[in-house]
Amino acid sequence: MFKTQQEGNRVSKKGKFPSQQSLSLSLMPLTSPKWLQCPSLSFTIPTSLFQHPRNSSTFLCNYCFKNKEQTQSWNGLKVIRGKKLLKDLTTWGIGGVCNYFVEVFDQTQLLSAIRYCHVNSIPYIIIGKGSNCLFDDLGFDGCLILNRIEFLERIDPGVYRVGSGFRFNQLGVLSCNEGFTGLEFSGGVPGTVGGATYMNAGANGQETASTIESIDIVTTEGAFQTLHRVDLSFGYRSSPFQDMKDLAAITAVTFRLQGSGSARKRQQELLKRRRITQPLGERSAGSVFRNPSSLGVSAAELIDKTGLKGFSIGGAMVSHIHANFFVNIGGSTSQDMLNLIAFVKDKVDKKFGIELEEEVLYFHPYCNLMNKERQL
Ligand SMILES: Cc1cc2nc3c(=O)[nH]c(=O)nc-3n(C[C@H](O)[C@H](O)[C@H](O)COP(=O)(O)OP(=O)(O)OC[C@H]3O[C@@H](n4cnc5c(N)ncnc54)[C@H](O)[C@@H]3O)c2cc1C
Repeated sequence: MFKTQQEGNRVSKKGKFPSQQSLSLSLMPLTSPKWLQCPSLSFTIPTSLFQHPRNSSTFLCNYCFKNKEQTQSWNGLKVIRGKKLLKDLTTWGIGGVCNYFVEVFDQTQLLSAIRYCHVNSIPYIIIGKGSNCLFDDLGFDGCLILNRIEFLERIDPGVYRVGSGFRFNQLGVLSCNEGFTGLEFSGGVPGTVGGATYMNAGANGQETASTIESIDIVTTEGAFQTLHRVDLSFGYRSSPFQDMKDLAAITAVTFRLQGSGSARKRQQELLKRRRITQPLGERSAGSVFRNPSSLGVSAAELIDKTGLKGFSIGGAMVSHIHANFFVNIGGSTSQDMLNLIAFVKDKVDKKFGIELEEEVLYFHPYCNLMNKERQL
C-alpha cells in the first residue's frame, strides 16, 4: 500500500549501542561556526542552543522548537508536536522531547499513524511501556508511536489472542489464575505483549517465544500479515522482528498455554523472589546487559565481582540490590547512563576479558544520521 521513506525506521538494534566516543562525535552539531542564524528568527544564536541540527542548512533552535508546539488532527489521530517528553514514557525516566507523538488504540489508528509518517517523510518507532529503552536528552527527531492496543480474546481454554499493547504482566497473572502455565515469569515484567515478543523477554527458564502460536504484524507497506511461530526463529532475548526490515509493528499475539494446577503458586514464588532480588521500587530498565552465552556466569555476577555495586556517575547508579540493574537515582541524564554502561563494560572486560553486550536499547535522537552511520 505504501512505504516509509527510508529503510530501517528502527534506530537501535542489539549490538548497536554507541561507545562513549562515537556518541559524542555523532551528537556534535553539524554546523561548525559558533553563531548561526536560525531560519525562523531575525537574530543570531549560539550553536549550543541548537536542539535539532538536521543538516547543515536546516536546524531548529530551542526557541523555534518551543514555538513549534502544536496538536494536529489527521484522519482521527491526535498528533502532538514538540511537547511530549520521552522521560514520561519510559521506566528509566530519561529522555527529551519527541518531535511528533501519537497514541494508537487500535489497528486502524496504527495504520493511520504509519501512513501519516510516510506521507510526511517522518521516521518513526513504536514503543510499549518503554521498559527496555534508553532515549536521549536531546529527544527523538521523529515520531514516537505509543501502543495502546489492549484487547484480549479467549479463543479456547489456554489460547489467548492479545493486543500488542496489552500489559504483559497482566496477561501472566490472568493466565496463571486461570490455571495455565508458560507465562509465570512475566508477573514482574513491566512491558507490553508487543515489547515482550520483540525482545523475546524471559526469566527463570521461561521465555515468551515458547508460548506463542502466531503473531500479527503490519508492514511498512501497510499490509497486515499473520506469522506462525513454527516459521520463526527466536533466540535468547532475540526475535526475528529485530532484523525485519519491513516491520512497522506487531499488532497482536496469540498464545497457546498448557493447563497446570501449580502455575499460580509458582508465579507467586517468583514474584516474591523478584521483590527481594531486584530494585523494583526504583527507576530501571531491568537487566542492562545480556548474560554471556555458555559461560555459566551471569552479567550481574561479573559486575558484582568487579566491585561496582553502588557505583554512580551523575544520577545513574549500579543498583546495590542487583548489579545488572542500573537505576536513575534522580536527574540521570542519558549521558550519565551511557557513561555508566560504558564504564562498567570496560571494567568487566579488563578484569575478566569478557565483553558484555547490552540488552537495553539506545535510541539515537537523529535517526536519519544513525541510519547513515549504520550503512558505513
Ligand atoms: C523492573 C524491570 C524488570 C524487568 N524484568 C525483565 C525480565 O525478567 N525479563 C526480560 O526479558 N526483560 C525484563 N525487563 C525488560 C523489559 O520489561 C522487557 O524487555 C519488556 O518486554 C519490554 O516491553 P516494552 O513494552 O516496555 O517494550 P519497549 O521498551 O517499549 O520497547 C522495546 C523494543 O521493542 C519494540 N517494540 C515494542 N512494542 C512493539 C510493537 N508492538 N511492535 C514492534 N516493536 C515493538 C520497541 O520499538 C523497542 O525496540 C524488565 C524491566 C524492568 C524495568
